[in-house]
Amino acid sequence: MATLDGLPPLRDVVQKHGLDARKALGQNFLFDLNLTQKIARTAGSLKDTTVIEVGPGPGGLTRAILSMEAKKVIAVERDPRCLPVLQEISNHYPGRLEVIEGDALKTDFETLVTEGPVKIIANLPYNVGTQLLVNWLLPQTWPPFYDSMTLMFQREVGERIVAQAGDDAYGRLGVLAGWRTDAHMAFDVPAQAFSPPPKVTSTVVHLVPKTNPIVCDASQLEKVTLAAFGQRRKMLRQSLKPLGGETLLNKANIDPQRRAETLSIEEFCKLANLL
Ligand code: SAM
Repeated sequence: MATLDGLPPLRDVVQKHGLDARKALGQNFLFDLNLTQKIARTAGSLKDTTVIEVGPGPGGLTRAILSMEAKKVIAVERDPRCLPVLQEISNHYPGRLEVIEGDALKTDFETLVTEGPVKIIANLPYNVGTQLLVNWLLPQTWPPFYDSMTLMFQREVGERIVAQAGDDAYGRLGVLAGWRTDAHMAFDVPAQAFSPPPKVTSTVVHLVPKTNPIVCDASQLEKVTLAAFGQRRKMLRQSLKPLGGETLLNKANIDPQRRAETLSIEEFCKLANLL
């Protein structure tokens, strides 16, 4: 059967290379190139753009990105079984796909890129997705090396990323993402779209770095949010005790009886700046 890009259908590729999905590697593959193109389109124009992809797997999303005129894709994949398949894609798009075998959590993405603009697009492995996002949100310098991130998460994680103060899903992720980016959920992807289907619905989240986020030290903000939401049902004077408790809260003009989920991002930054 013909495909959009002239390469063999993904199901055939996976069968030919014996790529049975491994749960430990968060492998839930997408085979529908219309869907992977829809994900790639969420990132906007890819013309002359370097795209970083984590976990290309058999290459469904990689192929969509390459078919959309990205200048180059740099893909980091942990599973060596995927490398021969990715080599075939690379042969089809000479000079435009660089595959790095390794663990994305240990990869310094900034040093991989020699030419901008850069966009990050990935159907992330669920077991490491949140940590990767936090790493990309918390570099010491800002604006970061990328212009946007278009990432697939479990819907529940997506809700936490875009949550605002007072929302049930509001927590550390909402503060960190809301501090430095404008984030929105673009569209849901039903479990049946994946092979094998995960237990829950997924969602594509698009994040664009803010040019002028509130001035605040990233590691201090991480510290405050970890402490505050680590005991989210407790009053802040209790949960923030190790960081100065009531004295710190009084300095910031924040009622020590409030709970973490009521604090705005500005208030979290104020606390971080006082540490
Ligand atoms: N992009 C493919 C797609 O959309 O069909 C595969 C997505 S699958 C959800 C996640 C991919 O991430 C798998 O190929 C898996 O091997 C890879 N992976 C898992 N942990 C990784 C890590 N720590 N670093 C890099 N890749 C990883």
